[in-house]
Amino acid sequence: MSSTTLDASTLGTRIDGVLQRTPTGLLIGGHWREASDGGTFDVENPATGEVLATLASATREDAQAAMDAAADAQEYWARTSSRSRSEILRRAFDLVQERAEDLALLMTLEMGKPFPEALGEVKYGGGVLRGVSEEAGRGYGRDSEAPEGTLRMLVKRKPVGPCLLITPWNFPLAMAARKVAPAVAAGCTMVLKPARLTPLTSQYFAQLMIDAGLPPGVLNVVASASAGNVSEPILADPRLRKISFTGSTPVGKQLMKLATDNVLRTSMELGGNGPLIVFEDADIDKAVAGAMAAKMRNMGEACTAANRLLVHEDVAEEFVTELAARMSALTVGDGTREGVDVGPLVEAKARDSVEEFVKEAVDGGARVVVGGSRVNGPGYFFQPTLLTNVSRDARVIREEVFGPVAPVITFATEDEAVELANSTEYGLASYVFTENISRGLRIGDRIEFGLMGLNVGVISNAAAPFGGVKQSGIGREGGAEGIAEYTTLQYVGIENPWDAA
Ligand code: NAD
Repeated sequence: MSSTTLDASTLGTRIDGVLQRTPTGLLIGGHWREASDGGTFDVENPATGEVLATLASATREDAQAAMDAAADAQEYWARTSSRSRSEILRRAFDLVQERAEDLALLMTLEMGKPFPEALGEVKYGGGVLRGVSEEAGRGYGRDSEAPEGTLRMLVKRKPVGPCLLITPWNFPLAMAARKVAPAVAAGCTMVLKPARLTPLTSQYFAQLMIDAGLPPGVLNVVASASAGNVSEPILADPRLRKISFTGSTPVGKQLMKLATDNVLRTSMELGGNGPLIVFEDADIDKAVAGAMAAKMRNMGEACTAANRLLVHEDVAEEFVTELAARMSALTVGDGTREGVDVGPLVEAKARDSVEEFVKEAVDGGARVVVGGSRVNGPGYFFQPTLLTNVSRDARVIREEVFGPVAPVITFATEDEAVELANSTEYGLASYVFTENISRGLRIGDRIEFGLMGLNVGVISNAAAPFGGVKQSGIGREGGAEGIAEYTTLQYVGIENPWDAA
């Protein structure tokens, strides 16, 4: 496997190399090409503010051309064998292993996450390709007899059809792989629109899929400075059958409205406001390790982030003291450098927003135990921040912070913990720490979240169905359930063969 550090003496050459290997055009019908109006946009490194690359910016006409290519390839693609599609995914997995350092470096450069974390995402993304490859041939239907004996019933799975895939900036490879791989397995063609802030990983990944054998037109990629240029014409096209979106809840709601006109299948992986509950019978070392992972991974820019640390009042002091020690020991800096734990936030606006969350909490009476401030640039850094005495209605508790800020609030009873956990419109990830497994399972029954970690702070796994309830979304990605999202059922009623005898 790859080295987890980057050699500083050769870093410049490696960066130039990976940027040269990353296509900068639009992928339409198997060819990389310029935008129809020649328009471009820049991709920045958030650790330095420098421009990394300039990409073609899709116009509405380009989006339409990508939709045409996907629609044209659909029938042919649906007829390929599931084995051949599975083998493409398996080859893609192998290529991800071979090119792991390129992919990780690109993510560190365009998104900011430290290189070892980026390698972790490569492992996860590769795991998605391998896992879906293994599942690809198993979309079994059923064959049965009508209860009245009048018909034979054949129920089969078909690809849903051309899909629009829209991904966020925070996990550029994982989010693209979680959509592209099941669509490939099911036999759907695609138009992928990566996030404006981090499109390079998707550009590189798309070329990798072509190198793995994906035929022209199956995957089309249209990065754009204007998301609406891509989504509006494609959502209005009657040949589109599905939209799969990962991003914020407000944008997801807008897209759901647009999807109603053509009654599209929708998969929505939206925002979160995850609670991490530490009971008085928790193993505190485990809970602190879990909180570090669930809060600090990806600089806190994760939909699965523990946004609210709910700690029983009897163990709050011990928990906060240990967590403060761990958080103050983190090194903030450019993620390409060795020893860095926390990279920059993705852009100046994100850093300013985190700063505002902290300021409002402090104005409302919160105490800053660790951090609390931005780090002077270049780059958009914010200190790992631990807050106590936070008001329950502070914005930092009610909304998704998307930064390295951990607000602690205390509770006295199990009922209170459940009520606090559920007091949000979101329902994606949750974490529970208790050595009493019955209590842990009982809490699972009582809290309204699509995902729960029991005594662990990282639960994402390519084989598990990932997704939320309430305003965190609809549908699941990962596992066999993730492939089923790209299929539709057809029931064929067949005359009873005995009637014809
Ligand atoms: P975002 O909603 O701003 O953008 C997501 C994608 O949608 C981007 O590609 C963006 O260009 C595009 N977009 C924005 N406006 C659009 C529009 N009007 N029409 C069509 N496309 C549009 O989200 P973000 O800031 O990129 O990502 C962070 C959010 O994503 C957080 O809320 C996070 O919780 C969520 N997220 C959820 C999951 C999950 O699996 N549930 C995973 C990762 C991130």
